[in-house]
Amino acid sequence: MARYTGPVCRLCRREGEKLFLKGDRCHTPKCAIERRGDRGGPGARSFSRRRPTEYAIQLREKQKARRIYGVLERQFRRHYRDAGKLGGPRGERLLQQLELRADNVAFRMGLGLSRAHARQLIQHGHVELNNRKHDIPSAVLSVGDTIRLRAKSRNIDAVKNAMDRAEALIRPPWLTVDVEAFEGRVNAIPARDQIDATLNEQLIVEFYSR
Ligand code: SF4
Repeated sequence: MARYTGPVCRLCRREGEKLFLKGDRCHTPKCAIERRGDRGGPGARSFSRRRPTEYAIQLREKQKARRIYGVLERQFRRHYRDAGKLGGPRGERLLQQLELRADNVAFRMGLGLSRAHARQLIQHGHVELNNRKHDIPSAVLSVGDTIRLRAKSRNIDAVKNAMDRAEALIRPPWLTVDVEAFEGRVNAIPARDQIDATLNEQLIVEFYSR
């Protein structure tokens, strides 16, 4: 499956804000955005005196969402299309689709140090969905679905580190996590105010409605 493989801090620089793509490092002074004088550097946005156009603002919001969730354009469009079929506010439905992706649910329950790490664990066959081996990170989960780390994968050091850390995580209310069993269950569709991504989804809808 295609994915972005370049330097991820460049993506934060491009958006001019922290997107938290690198796990623990994002919360340390080593973060490229935090480091003094490193607001420029590779990928940094070039500042023009002109005010950004409406189109540019909408485009940046869409790119920011893609980068936070680690989704390439084609898959992002698919989520957007599916969101339209669900009825109700399309922007909110889009964010719900993104939140309920298997890789995001695994990340939220603490299974990976970052979404990219959680995605890798799924792709490498370390995860079960509803008691069956599952290796598709983009699958959108439903209420009642359960994600679990497979028994034979519980000794992986990176997973153990993540799960140790997971005990202290604040988890979204739509996800019930049993840390001992390495298991998370979707107990509700996430409400907009339970999705902590700093996104203006209306701008994304406007972008695709042009
Ligand atoms: Fe972004 Fe900082 Fe994390 Fe790099 S370390 S991904 S710049 S938040």
